[in-house]
Amino acid sequence: MGTSEGWLIPTAKALRVTSTTRVGELDTNGTPGFEGGKSLGARLLEERGAVLSELQEKLFACARTTDEHRSVLLVLQGMDTAGKGGVVRHVIGHVDPQGVDHASFGVPTPEEKRHHYLWRVRRELPRKGQLGVFDRSHYEDVLVVRVHDLVPRTEWEARYDEINAFERDLVDSGTTLVKVAMFVSLDEQKARLAERLDRPDKYWKYNPGDVTERGFWPRYQEAYQAMLDRTSTEHAPWFVVPSDRKWYTRLAVTELLIDALERLELSWPPADFDVEAEKLRLARS
Ligand code: ADP
Repeated sequence: MGTSEGWLIPTAKALRVTSTTRVGELDTNGTPGFEGGKSLGARLLEERGAVLSELQEKLFACARTTDEHRSVLLVLQGMDTAGKGGVVRHVIGHVDPQGVDHASFGVPTPEEKRHHYLWRVRRELPRKGQLGVFDRSHYEDVLVVRVHDLVPRTEWEARYDEINAFERDLVDSGTTLVKVAMFVSLDEQKARLAERLDRPDKYWKYNPGDVTERGFWPRYQEAYQAMLDRTSTEHAPWFVVPSDRKWYTRLAVTELLIDALERLELSWPPADFDVEAEKLRLARS
């Protein structure tokens, strides 16, 4: 875990959930661990995006030459307008799309409803050598489901342990999880929703149901708190990313992914042919 330019402490350390993290007291406008503003953040996003891209390519390349399963899965959770789509576009956008397995999880379809809630999640897990991205995830099943009691309490209560066990298996089978909880303030969410109503090019993003959900904010905060308290584990910890400042969110997620990939200590696969002989053959061809 290194400290890169602009950061006073490693990002993963600055953002990792602790036993004292309180969702209701977060400074959503803060930039924990980072000293610098938007322009430095924007420059670093480009520079570090290139580093992320190279690491992802290494992950992809290594998968070609080994039977071992290794993949990284970024799990993005946050209220509407928290900026999940922006992370996909501006962070994952740095990476070769061939190496990305992206999935988003909305209201379950009739078919999905007939299965266990993890069924649709298992189907979207990243393949070997891939960077998986979940825009929402199995955590909806302890968030929106809990807030609206879409299943009986006893059922969603049991899910925390079940999710921990599911993630334990994932990690054991070679997937590194990077779980990011993004938080915007109620005011910032209002401003972002207002922008969607002001711009014809953003109408498609507007969902009247999002305003309804604002009325459930305290219950969502409670559900997010329980999620962090009960599913931040040694094998799959949560990172809490203040998200009122988009540039910070994007830079922070980039750093968290770089950190996860660096921990894999990947190296470029060696040539399985005689390099010098091939140079000669090519020259003569
Ligand atoms: P987005 O709003 O992220 O662009 P969608 O509109 O397709 O994406 O779907 C998101 C909605 O689906 C959210 O309101 C979310 O709470 C809801 N959702 C996701 N998973 C579930 C679930 N398991 N049960 C009920 N609702 C869910």
